[in-house]
Amino acid sequence: MPDPFSATPRIIEVAIPTPLRRCFDYLPGPDTPVQGWQPGLRVKLSFGHRDMVGIVVGTKQDSDVPTSRLKPIKALIDQTPLPADWLALCRFTARYYQHSLGDTLFQALPVLLRQGRPLEARTLDRWRLTSRGQNTSAEQLGRAHKQAELLDMLRQHRRGMPHTAITAQGFTRQQLEALAGKGLVEVHTEQAIAPPRDNHETLAEPSLTLSREQSEVLAALHAQLGRFSPSLLHGVTGSGKTEVYLQLIEAVLHRRQQALVLIPEIGLTPQTLDRFRRRFNVPIVALHSGMSDNERLDAWEAAGAGRARIIIGTRSAVFTPMAALGIIIIDEEHDDSFKQQDGLRYHARDLALVRAQSEHIPVVLGTATPSLVTLRHARDGRYHHLHLTRRAGHSRKAHIELLDIRGRPQDGGLTPPALEAIREQLALKRQVLIFINRRGYAPTLACHQCGWLAECPRCDARLTLHRHPPELICHHCDHHVALPDACPSCHSGDLRPQGSGTERTEDALATAFPDTQVLRVDRDSTRRKDALQHTLDIIHRGDPCLLVGTQMLAKGHHFPHITLVVVVNADGGLYSADYRALETSAQLLIQVAGRAGRAEHPGRVLIQTHHPDDPGLLLLAEQGYDALAERLLVERRQAGLPPYRHLMLLRGESPHQQNLLELFGRVGEALRGHVAAHDIRVDCLGPVPAPMERRQGRYHVQLMLAADGRAPLHDAGAWLVHYMEQLPEARRLRWSLDVDPVAL
Ligand code: ADP
Ligand code: ZN
Ligand code: ZN
Repeated sequence: MPDPFSATPRIIEVAIPTPLRRCFDYLPGPDTPVQGWQPGLRVKLSFGHRDMVGIVVGTKQDSDVPTSRLKPIKALIDQTPLPADWLALCRFTARYYQHSLGDTLFQALPVLLRQGRPLEARTLDRWRLTSRGQNTSAEQLGRAHKQAELLDMLRQHRRGMPHTAITAQGFTRQQLEALAGKGLVEVHTEQAIAPPRDNHETLAEPSLTLSREQSEVLAALHAQLGRFSPSLLHGVTGSGKTEVYLQLIEAVLHRRQQALVLIPEIGLTPQTLDRFRRRFNVPIVALHSGMSDNERLDAWEAAGAGRARIIIGTRSAVFTPMAALGIIIIDEEHDDSFKQQDGLRYHARDLALVRAQSEHIPVVLGTATPSLVTLRHARDGRYHHLHLTRRAGHSRKAHIELLDIRGRPQDGGLTPPALEAIREQLALKRQVLIFINRRGYAPTLACHQCGWLAECPRCDARLTLHRHPPELICHHCDHHVALPDACPSCHSGDLRPQGSGTERTEDALATAFPDTQVLRVDRDSTRRKDALQHTLDIIHRGDPCLLVGTQMLAKGHHFPHITLVVVVNADGGLYSADYRALETSAQLLIQVAGRAGRAEHPGRVLIQTHHPDDPGLLLLAEQGYDALAERLLVERRQAGLPPYRHLMLLRGESPHQQNLLELFGRVGEALRGHVAAHDIRVDCLGPVPAPMERRQGRYHVQLMLAADGRAPLHDAGAWLVHYMEQLPEARRLRWSLDVDPVAL
């Protein structure tokens, strides 16, 4: 048999960004090398009738397709292949999530690389002082005042300044060139993300002195550097987890390694990024949705080349190649935003664990409210379980009280005792946060005469009433409807808002407390760039104010002057069809509660509910999240739900309800037949309509697969995907397989 590596390969296997779960065979082209087709090289080729970029994944001697029908590769883009580690992680991802390898690889690449841009560092020209310039004082320039000013400005910027930044300050090209003519300034070209200077200090500011608890945790984590070792850092909000990350990263940097930090959202929490930037002198790159394609490519390249030392990003950053990765930290590990909910449905936390294992490095999962999945691993001894039980500094933990709102009047969702508690804090010149997880004015509009409710014509959902501007909006499909003058059903003019959203609560508070500033934070109020930052600045000034907001406020922010948090309604998660609803709403409540009492004043948290006797809610209020989590784990084990069993969901959608249900019924039968015939231990449940069956005019059904072990589940999933791909009727609908779904 010919050795596939020494012999000249005849066939090149290429992954192409299509949903098809297979690779494609090509021949070397007349303009491409004969040998050296390493996996990870990008190539240009024609696919169908389009020119595309593909990625070489292997070579072989023979193809199932006759050679005469194979096309040649048009051009080789890269001299060096994309990193092998990166390719391996993508291969795992595609296999585990039953997704097309080509699509996976391309989703894991920055846009410009998908389009075939060469992978190389962009450079930037900067003007800076020559050594003669450094030794020249402004006075020596005599009457050339502008030049003297420019010289002084450049003296302040030792790294130099790009030409555009200089002209933005009101200087001209002529002035620059005049200085250059005198040998005082020069152009210096450097990479867009430059390496740290030689013999620089790693720290830009001193670290804090750790508490005893923090020191113990840091020592435990420190001992794990250099090998695969997962840890759950379970610390109450404000216990100083971030400070532990910072000092752990310092140790990683001293080992000449890089750190990857995954966080749920960057746009909402610029403070986190600022803290890293203030602490370290090394190049830090953030990967987030606000970046241009060029900036993303720069960051990717700098991380892969090892110049960027710390990478902070949201879930997709888990795919960033890194030359010398030393640790992965996942902050707020319980957050569902780490799971992508469409296309390639990966979970960044789970992939981070896989990556850490293959790169032999530790991974730290930090949170105040661990996901039940992570908690189970920790309890079973697969993860180190490290605790931070006390808040750092002087702040004390908030006290949670349930407030029975049955039969009580409400104004903007707030009952008299809640308003009274707010008044008390304002009298003490403190700040109050009112949390209401619904934007808009009211969850819906109703007719007081006949009971008509404003419903979305395209979804099984009510339309939300908005006031600025006045209209009805579906929060699921963004359908907008003008406000009706009269009830469409009985023509009565008596239409009334039902319930409260942030806008209504804001109005009620402004009326009740006319002398106090009321600030609102939700997706509508923060649409304008910088609007959120502006609001946060006001809050940080510390003057008494009322802050009304959605869960946008729950993440990452520190509000030292807030001493009371009122949760308008906690009932949403208590009786939901989704088995994870209580877990996620308890996490959210604890996060919101964590905003209170950060400074020297102890915080108070008032939770309004119609179910003050609900055992889950009581446990949370009286004993905290950990006690609730223990109980939920027992319930999950008894009910045979994750983390004790594993799930996959086959989802389908179509405009035709009946056909869809019938087809999924047949798919379910086929699957049951297959697992029975091969003795695969998988249960198949359904098909059932999805929780919101109709969305945007399309019907949704799902088939659930459940198993004790991952292996049988993945066998069944692979079979199912293959079956669906072959099924002619399935081409007429949209379907997807969700592995480890976070929402049913
Ligand atoms: P977490 O990430 O657990 O919410 P942080 O690291 O953000 O906690 O710490 C909360 C606050 O306590 C921050 O303002 C931080 O600067 C401060 N802090 C953390 N550790 C210490 C320490 N050892 N000494 C003094 N202040 C600390
Ligand atoms: Zn009516
Ligand atoms: Zn809708």
